[in-house]
Amino acid sequence: MNRRYRHTIIAGNWKMNKTAKETKEFAEEMKKLWTVRPKWCDTVICVPACNISTATKAFKELRIAVGAENVYFEPNGAFTGEIAADMLSDLNVKYVIVGHSERRQYFGETDQTVNKKVHAVLNAGMSPIICVGESLEEREKGITDELIALQVKSALSGVSAEQVRRCVIAYEPVWAIGTGRTATAEQAGEVCKNIRSTIRTLYGARVSRSITIQYGGSMNEKNAKELLAQPDIDGGLIGGAALVPEKFLAIINAANQDQE
Ligand code: PEP
Repeated sequence: MNRRYRHTIIAGNWKMNKTAKETKEFAEEMKKLWTVRPKWCDTVICVPACNISTATKAFKELRIAVGAENVYFEPNGAFTGEIAADMLSDLNVKYVIVGHSERRQYFGETDQTVNKKVHAVLNAGMSPIICVGESLEEREKGITDELIALQVKSALSGVSAEQVRRCVIAYEPVWAIGTGRTATAEQAGEVCKNIRSTIRTLYGARVSRSITIQYGGSMNEKNAKELLAQPDIDGGLIGGAALVPEKFLAIINAANQDQE
């Protein structure tokens, strides 16, 4: 983390978990446990679309921003089952996950649709959390850096320097998501450093210094401190551990520690 230049953001991704009732119970539990407000980090939880309104009310006192897990890029029309960016911002959504590997893998999301979604989110005044990451096969082939650079460049195609300041990039190695297998702090830190250097090439040093880059992939209460100690890791995108108040809070506390 480098708090001098950028925000630390801890974001949960609940995926297809928790009913409205369970969302309220989570908030109540957090209220009991959360005694010290985080001074140094912003917190977000991205919830299933049907629970956005419930979460917005339940998390208000906790000052946890509510995020969405997906969006469609068209503004309206005959797209049964999809949700437009304006519909999300209307519900006070602040962040939208775009290009999560599960969406790329199971729902045919491509670098092109990711780019369109990034524009839709930005145009609606929200912040995209843009997920990039390599598969195990790609890592073993030694093409991680070029692949991630390509994903970042495609996602940001046509995005202005002004707009990119609102973007968050999440480095999520596919082999580490939901597997319990975390990238080492050095591996994660190295890729996040390379992402920053790609941003520098595209937008210059000042912009690249200010962009929040998260790590995601089995981040938990045990490994968060070490991962967040890497200078180019400015937070986390957290799946499994964000479903459990004690674990999510422990990660927030790791991000909120004083920095020398
Ligand atoms: C994720 O879904 O973005 C994620 C990182 O999941 P997990 O923490 O469970 O690996």
